[in-house]
Amino acid sequence: MELILAADRLTIAMLSLHSCPLGRLGTRDTGGMSVYIREVALRLASRGHRVDIFTRHHEPFHSPVVRLAQGVRLIHLEAGVDPDPPKLSLVNHLEEFVSSLERFRRKTGIEYDLIHSHYWLSGLAGLMLQKIWAAPHVTMFHTLAAVKNEMGAAKDEPWLRIASERRVAGSCDLVIAATDEGKEELGRHYGVRPGMVRVIPCGVDLQRFYPADKKAARRVLGLNPEEEVVLYVGRIDPLKGLDRLMEAVSFLDGRPWLRVVIVGGEERSGPEMERLQGLVRRYGLQNRVRFAGRIDQPGLPVFYNAADLLVLPSFHETFGLVALEALACGTPVVATKVGGMADLLGEGLNGRLVEGDVGRGLASALKETLAGVRAGLFPPAVVRSSVCGYGWSNVAGALLAEYRGLLTGRLAQAC
Ligand code: UDP
Repeated sequence: MELILAADRLTIAMLSLHSCPLGRLGTRDTGGMSVYIREVALRLASRGHRVDIFTRHHEPFHSPVVRLAQGVRLIHLEAGVDPDPPKLSLVNHLEEFVSSLERFRRKTGIEYDLIHSHYWLSGLAGLMLQKIWAAPHVTMFHTLAAVKNEMGAAKDEPWLRIASERRVAGSCDLVIAATDEGKEELGRHYGVRPGMVRVIPCGVDLQRFYPADKKAARRVLGLNPEEEVVLYVGRIDPLKGLDRLMEAVSFLDGRPWLRVVIVGGEERSGPEMERLQGLVRRYGLQNRVRFAGRIDQPGLPVFYNAADLLVLPSFHETFGLVALEALACGTPVVATKVGGMADLLGEGLNGRLVEGDVGRGLASALKETLAGVRAGLFPPAVVRSSVCGYGWSNVAGALLAEYRGLLTGRLAQAC
C-alpha cells in the first residue's frame, strides 16, 4: 500500500536548459519542444502532480520563478550570461546550471521524484542530477544529431553532441520517442536497446485548435475567398524543406489563384530566410508567397482555418505538431513521409503523403488536394475526427504510466 501512495502525487523536475517554454515560438530554437514541455507540464499538474521546469536565465525581465499554473513553475537558473549564446557553448555551463538547480532545491526543501530532460544538453544535466538525487531519469531528445547529419540538409552537428546523445541514452533510465521511426533511429545510430525506449506520440490542444468558418477567417487575414491558400507553419530551418515547396509551387504556374502563406521566423531569421527569399525571386513567386512572420500560438487557429491545406515538406520531423494542429482545425495536410505523418494521414481522408520525387510529387499532391477541398472531399468534421485521440492529456497519461513504472521498480528494488 505504501508503495502505491509514495508514487501517487509526483514532484517532477523537467529540464529544458537551452530553450525556455516562454520563448517566442516559431523562432530559431523555439518550436515543438517548448510546446511539448508546457503542455505536458500543465496536463500533469491538472492530474494533481507538481512540475518544476528548469531553464537557463536568458531575459532580464523574467522573474527567477514564474508560476505557469497551479502546480507548474518555470524556474530560471544562472548558467552563463550571454542572452543568445550558440547552443554548443552551453556545454560549458552545465555544472553551473546543475549547481544552481541544486541550490534552489535545497533552499526550497523539495525532493524530486523523477527527472525528465529534453534535448541532449538537458540530458547531460539530467545525468548529473540522477547521480546526486538517485532519482530515475527519463529523457527525450526531440532531434538526434546523427539523424540530422545523415539527412545532410543542414550544417553538420558536432561530434560532441553525437557522443553526448549516445552517453545520455546509454545511462538514463528510459528514452521517450515520438514515433516508431524515432525509436528505430535510436537503435541504429546509438545502439539503444528497444526495451529502453517507449514510443508516445505527441499531442494537440483540441480546445485551442478547432474548425471555424473559412470565409470569416480569410476576412480577418485579408485573404481573398477565391484564392487557393496553401499554408506552412513552423520554424525557418533547412530541415523543414521549404526550398522543396518553392520548387513545387513553381511547377503550378497554371493556377493564378494559388497563394502560399508562410508563418514562422522573423524578419532577421538569418541565412535560411535569405535563401528562401532568393528562391522566391528566382522562381518569380513574389506575388504568390507571403511571409507572415512568427505568430503567437493563440493567433494560429485563424491561419489554419483560412487555409485550404497545410503543407509540411520537411526532410525530417520529431513528430510534426503543426500537422496535428491543422487537422484539429479540420484542414487537410500534404506532407512528406516524416515524423508522425505516416500514422496521421490517411489517403483521401485528411490529406496526402508525398514520397519519392518530392518536387513534382509535391506539386501534384498539392494540386489534387486543392481540387479535393473544392469538391468538398475533406469535410472539416471528418478531418478533425482523425486526431481526436491525440489530446495532450493522453500524452501526459502515457508518460505518467512510464514514470510510475520506473518509480515502482526502484521502490521494489529497495525493499
Ligand atoms: N508555432 C507557433 N508560432 C509560429 C510557428 C510555430 O506557435 O509562428 C508553434 C506551432 O503551433 C507548433 C510548434 O511551434 O506547436 C512547432 O512544432 P513542430 O513539431 O511542428 O516543429 P518543431 O519546432 O518541433 O520542428
